[in-house]
Amino acid sequence: MILFPEGKPTKRETFDEYRASGGYEALKRNPSPAAILEEVADSGLRGRGGAGYPVGKKWAIAAQTPVTPRYIVCNAGEDEPGSFKDRVLLEHRPHLVLEGMILAARAIPAEHAYLYLNETYHDCFQRFTDAVDEAQGAGLLHSLAVSIHGAPTVYVAGEDSAALEVLEGKPPLPRQKPPYPAAAGLFGKPTVVNNVETFANVPSILRSGAAWFRTHGTAESPGTMIFCLGDEMNHPGAYELPLGSSLRHLYEDVGGGLKEGKKLKAVLPGGPSCAFLPADRIDVPLDPASLQKAGSSLGCGVMRFYSTETCMVEETLRIAQFFARESCGQCPACRMETNMLSTILDRIHQGKGDTTLYHQFQKILDFNRGKGYCALINMPGPPITSAIRLFQDDFNHHLRHGTCPF
Ligand code: SF4
Repeated sequence: MILFPEGKPTKRETFDEYRASGGYEALKRNPSPAAILEEVADSGLRGRGGAGYPVGKKWAIAAQTPVTPRYIVCNAGEDEPGSFKDRVLLEHRPHLVLEGMILAARAIPAEHAYLYLNETYHDCFQRFTDAVDEAQGAGLLHSLAVSIHGAPTVYVAGEDSAALEVLEGKPPLPRQKPPYPAAAGLFGKPTVVNNVETFANVPSILRSGAAWFRTHGTAESPGTMIFCLGDEMNHPGAYELPLGSSLRHLYEDVGGGLKEGKKLKAVLPGGPSCAFLPADRIDVPLDPASLQKAGSSLGCGVMRFYSTETCMVEETLRIAQFFARESCGQCPACRMETNMLSTILDRIHQGKGDTTLYHQFQKILDFNRGKGYCALINMPGPPITSAIRLFQDDFNHHLRHGTCPF
């Protein structure tokens, strides 16, 4: 595989081990900025943070914006429920991430690269600090400055422009866009913000070539992705699979199914902002286009599997309350929307009201769509509307009895 030799994190790689397996070879070949940009664009690599924006395109915008200095930000402000892929990559393969950042800095070119790191990830901080010292000692950084900056543990702090605010010493509040960070980011300068997994793909692309990278995954979505499986599974953990692998393979062969032999009821395939899939969609390929066709999305690869003993009203209420709590509140529409959605769900949960409440959700979502500075305002919609559509028996039971059906 591309990110973990055995398809999952097994050992904490040292500097010598990384170099012995071809690490820093791509950098030592001294590729020109244009050559890096071309290879990354040809690879078809898309950002792995959830939005899936083409990486080559983002880097080209930063490189072509005639303003200096330019910056690189590796976003490890990981605070998505159930996600731990940034952490395992930084703990196990810090030099892979660092080499990706150095290559990005050479491409656009930038003179300062930041690791924006969840402030509770102390082990990652140490591992990455050591990696920077080792690379510096080996003369691999040249004039590039690399710093680590703590990311507050609130969900919205992981949004790219909120990360830039924090790096500028301000509270983690998303910025209104455009301009996008690639054109006007940190201190108003062109800034490439990508997540950890995205940077970790770059050294292999430069070392083995875009054509080799495209032998993994699908034509539209080349490469692999790390999927996080939670404690409800027999084999929880982070697993790297080629994009386009089937959800069934991940669920049955890799994850070993649900604990205690429980039967599958639903899947949330990409974190709390995705639509639920029913159990009979288990054969869907894991790539953005296939999941979109199935009515959901891949997000950042955080998988949640729910058993037939799960009340989907409880789960949906939990998600709605999460977004209401995590809204930073600077956009009135977002504040109002997330609170209303969770209040209505709570009424259903308590059995207060009737089925006309189901229609309120779509009206609230339609009214507020796009009225926020960031994507959070659109996030509660897919899980709520899909849950009501797919699991109406659970909702009807709550309305009638005010209790879970199980
Ligand atoms: S949309 Fe919501 S979370 Fe995003 S900036 Fe506005 S208030 Fe904050």
